[in-house]
Amino acid sequence: MATAAPRLIPAGVFLQEACAKHRYIRTNDNSGIYERPERLRAAHIGIAAAYARIECAQEDASNSNSTTVTPRQHPLEIIKSAAKVDFNHTAVQYVHAVDEGLYLTNLTNWAEESSTKIAAGSSEIPEVLKELEDDLYLCPQSLEAFQGGLGTICEAVDTVVTASRPGSDSSQADSSSSMSKRAFVVIRPPGHHCGEDNPNGFCFVNDVAVGAAHAYTEHNIRYAVIFDIDLHHGNGTQAITWEINHDTHMDQAGMRIFYGSIHDILSYPCEEGKADAIKDASISIGGQYGQWIENIHLRPYRSDKQFWLDYESLYSKIFEKAAAFVEDAAKGEEVMVFLSCGFDASEYESDAMSRHGSKVPTTFYHRFTRDACKFADRFSNGRIVSVMEGGYSDRALTSGAMAHVCGLVDSDGGKFNVDPDWWSFENLLMLEKYTQKRKGRPARTTFLAPWLQRTLDILPLFSGAPSTSQVLIPPSRKRDPPPTKTGRPRGRPRKHPLPLAGSSSISSTTTTTTTSSKGPKRTLPERQAAASSKRRRLDITARAQDAADSATGQQAIGQSTQPSVVGEPIEQGEAQTAGLESVASTSSVPRDLRLAFAEEIRKLKKLEENIAAFQVAYRPDLQNPHINWVRTQRLKEVLQSWEMDGLT
Ligand SMILES: [Zn+2]
Repeated sequence: MATAAPRLIPAGVFLQEACAKHRYIRTNDNSGIYERPERLRAAHIGIAAAYARIECAQEDASNSNSTTVTPRQHPLEIIKSAAKVDFNHTAVQYVHAVDEGLYLTNLTNWAEESSTKIAAGSSEIPEVLKELEDDLYLCPQSLEAFQGGLGTICEAVDTVVTASRPGSDSSQADSSSSMSKRAFVVIRPPGHHCGEDNPNGFCFVNDVAVGAAHAYTEHNIRYAVIFDIDLHHGNGTQAITWEINHDTHMDQAGMRIFYGSIHDILSYPCEEGKADAIKDASISIGGQYGQWIENIHLRPYRSDKQFWLDYESLYSKIFEKAAAFVEDAAKGEEVMVFLSCGFDASEYESDAMSRHGSKVPTTFYHRFTRDACKFADRFSNGRIVSVMEGGYSDRALTSGAMAHVCGLVDSDGGKFNVDPDWWSFENLLMLEKYTQKRKGRPARTTFLAPWLQRTLDILPLFSGAPSTSQVLIPPSRKRDPPPTKTGRPRGRPRKHPLPLAGSSSISSTTTTTTTSSKGPKRTLPERQAAASSKRRRLDITARAQDAADSATGQQAIGQSTQPSVVGEPIEQGEAQTAGLESVASTSSVPRDLRLAFAEEIRKLKKLEENIAAFQVAYRPDLQNPHINWVRTQRLKEVLQSWEMDGLT
């Protein structure tokens, strides 16, 4: 008898299309612009992959070949938000309306006049902000992006507060859409560098501070805990925290904020070595003068083991400091947790952004999120709202968003466990390969792993701007056997070693997990397939170089020194794979033979991924010792996986 899919904790992911409208229009050359609209899609890919992975894992854990997870049973709820608040909104005024709202008036004018000024040959950024011009840009539609982002975080706060009210039971994952006490708000541009009236570092409004103010002004939540895990110190959020805490301390009334940040002290805004910036990014104060601020600096590490020791001994102290802040609050009803979730400390952030080599493993985003949720369960009645801050390479955003979302729904001690392999380097390469928009993306007719196929099915649903906020309900996944490849290889007719049958008879799960061909003696089809594998290696190497080149994208510095190897024509290699897949899915072929061919397909695909990983990892032209050390470790891991698969 099939068991029910295991329960996870519900979480809402809020998407906001208007945030794509903030664009650089000062010149036609946007090659030096890191904060770009495409960041949203990169995060969406990670979220779609997390959705698909969780769904497939739930189905596998249900011990049934027929159980499917309906959208209502899925712990992730994707909300396409149409929310928007104007600058007169109470919470926006609470944070940014100093000097009678002069900054908000100015910001509106700067954006509305931007295209006119640029057309006249001047900059849209006013003279008073001239020295920050490299990090700030505006267009007339920027206002829609800012107000959409602010509206979305306020909407997420409302949703989370409603779900946490007495009578709501968020342990029921298949309940109504208002049951998520955990939320991730996917917006841009980031906000944590923006102070009350001073934009900088890509940021024009401080979304997380406005979210906290909205929780206070609308829901009387007086204690806001803000954790910030962006690579950079959130100087704007800290400055706003200081002002609000000071006013509350003097008046003995108002909201209180704990601001805790884990960041790189060498990076912006400290990069120029200015004393004030470095001191601000190093403050540790626990209650004196009504201030609650904790800054922790990232440490360099030479192994994952060392990083996690640092996590236990240093980074997780942020939760102890925050616990001291909220211990006076009344039973969590007055507390809310926020997470400024930047992904630019990722191991996959570009070297141009991560100039000081200070990085964290992707799994950090899963672990920290889980720990922050545990903190919220203990102190804020489970309420937590996360908002996207930095993260500028596509891979950093995709992997970070995936790990973060998995952390939001994960729970300790349950039957279900998130697998860090979901965001392994090899799986990220696969994800990028099939979601790239560029010319040369592989044909969708190729057989794909169920999680990858599901990701590709869901992702297009993320686009589009609804007139009112809507919960996205993807169609239930069909657990059909893998489709027979019908695409015609480029350039020449495909030759099948055996005639194609009308339908497939083995499941994708069987195809990817069988180990029946392993053993001391190889059967004839195994020997034939192994010979085919050797013939394909030269061809795969050439194709993997293409994949590696496109995968490295903006991170590439100089040219790879790997020799290029040209073997069989690509069309012939694809035809061979197609032939193997045809055999593996032909019902008239004996089962043992089909399984052997299915295993060979798995090895070929793994080999292709490994070679791509090898060529990306081994970059002797990059001389940063720390980065080279990390890459060397990755190279060793790749080689070990080759040995385990018998591919060396
Ligand atoms: Zn940042």
